[in-house]
Amino acid sequence: MNNKPAILLIYTGGTIGMVKDFKTGALRAFNFDQLVERIPELHLLECSIETYSFEVPIDSSDMRPEMWVQMASVIEENYKKFDGFVILHGSDTMSYSASALSFMLENTRKPIILTGSQLPIGDLRTDAKENLITAIQIAALQENNKPVIQEVCLYFEYKLYRGNRTSKVSSELFNAFTSPNIPHLAESGVNLRVNKALLEYKNETLPLTVHKEMSRNVMILKVFPGIQQKVLKAILNIEDLEGIVLETYGSGNAPTESWFLNTLAEAIAKGLKVINVTQCSSGSVHMGKYETSTELKEIGVISGKDITTEAAITKLMFLLAQKNVVDFKEAFETPICGEMEL
Ligand code: ASP
Repeated sequence: MNNKPAILLIYTGGTIGMVKDFKTGALRAFNFDQLVERIPELHLLECSIETYSFEVPIDSSDMRPEMWVQMASVIEENYKKFDGFVILHGSDTMSYSASALSFMLENTRKPIILTGSQLPIGDLRTDAKENLITAIQIAALQENNKPVIQEVCLYFEYKLYRGNRTSKVSSELFNAFTSPNIPHLAESGVNLRVNKALLEYKNETLPLTVHKEMSRNVMILKVFPGIQQKVLKAILNIEDLEGIVLETYGSGNAPTESWFLNTLAEAIAKGLKVINVTQCSSGSVHMGKYETSTELKEIGVISGKDITTEAAITKLMFLLAQKNVVDFKEAFETPICGEMEL
């Protein structure tokens, strides 16, 4: 009998599976079978691996919500058959995809680990092998016949993070990701150390529910000294715009000029959802802490607390597409799957 955990490896593209185009010198995605061939070590792992490849692997800068739906659907169709899932993904938008999937795959009780690399798998100094092999090992980790990790995570350069807490912070370093507001969930050294106190576990009786609708009527607006009224007005008047993530200063502060607050207030009164996140690389929004945020709270701006921009925009896309949201502010300010503080 084969008791080895079964892992489905889903290949979407990214540097990990790219080769240099000899003519242009640019990196482009190549065939997935060749990728597996380049890592014979995969055969040594204590798990069985099956693969699924996107028909046209992409650079993750081309990632779109339809592809999140495709990834979620592949997981849904194969959920019973496999013990864990590893998604190979370009690092550029990996935090967005990890965040989106965490909302779309409600009640997952199996590991879904996104990983990729900074250098292609064929490169001598590649980080791809370690990332891929350890991501698979983590997806295959079991205790009492149950997966140790039961959520959407991102594995990169020896660290496992909650996916919806991450941001890409370096285009060069192997250590390309950070989880600014919560510690990493596991670290790979000589041993794999898992911080079990941080892991999310869903009620065993709840079935996996896959949500496939995401609104695209959203945008991210970063506040900066000198932002003009005509700019804010033009953005807030975009036809069909349903929500924006407003990147403010510090603990959620923004200009107090009346045109700024009035323009926002008018849009909110017409139904626009405005989410306040900080443009600082860590910390939380506390509207009302300074005078410069008190009024934002009063006009109905929603607090993103300590959420990342990546998780905020995908949570907004997700919640706007849900039919049964009664109180949007309450729904956004309540954590769904560990993406923000309570
Ligand atoms: N441009 C690449 C991508 O995101 C970078 C990478 O994979 O690291 O697909």
